[in-house]
Amino acid sequence: MQNLENCPRCGTLFVKSLRPICKDCYKAIEEKFQTVYTFIRKRENRQATMLEVVEGTGVEREDITRFIKEGRIHLHQFPNLDYPCESCGKGIRKGRICSSCRGEIEGGLQAEQREKERHERAKEEERKHYTTYHSLNDRLK
Ligand SMILES: [Zn+2]
Ligand SMILES: [Zn+2]
Repeated sequence: MQNLENCPRCGTLFVKSLRPICKDCYKAIEEKFQTVYTFIRKRENRQATMLEVVEGTGVEREDITRFIKEGRIHLHQFPNLDYPCESCGKGIRKGRICSSCRGEIEGGLQAEQREKERHERAKEEERKHYTTYHSLNDRLK
């Protein structure tokens, strides 16, 4: 059975097989990749920043970012190339978000954890009081 789907990039109906996008889009992206790769491999472009690559090739930053994330462009060969943090857009060279955004998320998680522990302790205290009160009452009977 043929698996017909709309291409997420251009919306054309295509047969989904090996690729998540249609043949035309695949070809277009491959061409972009070749353009970018040819550009940054030139010795004089090794130090290029993302903006310079975008301007030099006419390929969108999103596409270049994808090539980097897919591991098709290795950043260790290009010291000035970076891509935007998914949270704040600041240039980063590894992972999906920058270190300050990561710190914020982790900080938030820790605060949440502390709050939960505080809540647990409060409940525990309450239970203790309750038991004390009742055993006291029992004794008074
Ligand atoms: Zn397409
Ligand atoms: Zn960030």
